[in-house]
Amino acid sequence: MNKFLHSKYKSLTPYDTSEEIESLTDYIRLNTNESPYPPSPKAIEYAHEASRSMNYYSDPECRELAARLSLLMKIKPSQIVFGNGSDEILNFIFMAFCENGAAFPDITYSFYKVLAELHGVNYVTVPLRDFRIYPEDYTHMNHRTLFITNPNAPTGIALSLNELERIINLNPNSLIVIDEAYVDFGAESAVKSINEYSNVIVVRTFSKSRSLAGGRLGWCMTNESLAQDIRNVKNSIAPYNINAMTQAAGIGTLEDEEYMQKNIAEICRERERTRNALCEIGFDVLDSKTNFLFARHKKIPGIKIFEALKERHIMIRHFTNPKINDWNRITIGTHEQMQAMLNSLKDSQIIKEEK
Ligand code: PMP
Repeated sequence: MNKFLHSKYKSLTPYDTSEEIESLTDYIRLNTNESPYPPSPKAIEYAHEASRSMNYYSDPECRELAARLSLLMKIKPSQIVFGNGSDEILNFIFMAFCENGAAFPDITYSFYKVLAELHGVNYVTVPLRDFRIYPEDYTHMNHRTLFITNPNAPTGIALSLNELERIINLNPNSLIVIDEAYVDFGAESAVKSINEYSNVIVVRTFSKSRSLAGGRLGWCMTNESLAQDIRNVKNSIAPYNINAMTQAAGIGTLEDEEYMQKNIAEICRERERTRNALCEIGFDVLDSKTNFLFARHKKIPGIKIFEALKERHIMIRHFTNPKINDWNRITIGTHEQMQAMLNSLKDSQIIKEEK
């Protein structure tokens, strides 16, 4: 640590990307919940076209993208703010609204904790029960901003819209942030609640179902007043946060809903097939409404499964948190990738020895 570092950053624990970096070469990547399918040809074509104007700054308001997305979401463009990935939107939210603290489940997207620590936001965690979020456990938020990932990660389990509305109704004095990164894979969106309640922000991403993880494009939807507050924070940090190619690629994906729906259907089919196959070789697998599975072998420690696959150049996500260290999160890839993963497990000594 350099002596010039600001004292408030001396104890930072940043998001750990080392394994993601390792998996960039020569691995089947089932560890970061990306889409195994390339972006829509339209997205690629539009991004290429937009690259010709790179000498100009990009549109800080992403007006064309907002206009198209607002039609799809049936809201006003002024209710949308874009981020460099939804991670950046989450950062804006932590900066703008967490003065009274934050709350989130104890097992959920790990970035909330990283951001809370970065911004010195006091936070509480609410334990999951049987890996589930129960609305009645969220009654004492005490003005804290509540972050709910729906479907949750890494469990993959979804809440119904009714359950989400219960959480919102139980907490009229809190801002409720619903992170719908994986909603397209089978859960109900809470987007209609942004016009029914004054305290709801829905966060979404182009990274998963729209195959644009590397393009870095996320957005949030809320009422115009909250959206303006988020926009003000954004314009104070990074007014041109979405580059021109990414804005164009985003428009391309919106013009090709059919391609996205086809990929989603394929991923959901493969998810259920993989789930059944894992159960047959001794795994417990939670019911997932996402593009990943959360699985534990009945007899073999999670780390052993992770290592056995890594040895065969297949990367899945292992967690060190003792509450979930027997579980691994497995992204749904193509049929061939999932078959390679299943074959590697079946061939591995550890599974054979357990038979
Ligand atoms: N929310 C959740 C729950 C996630 O799993 C992720 C992906 N790691 C994100 C937000 C951020 O995704 P992105 O920044 O690529 O939009």
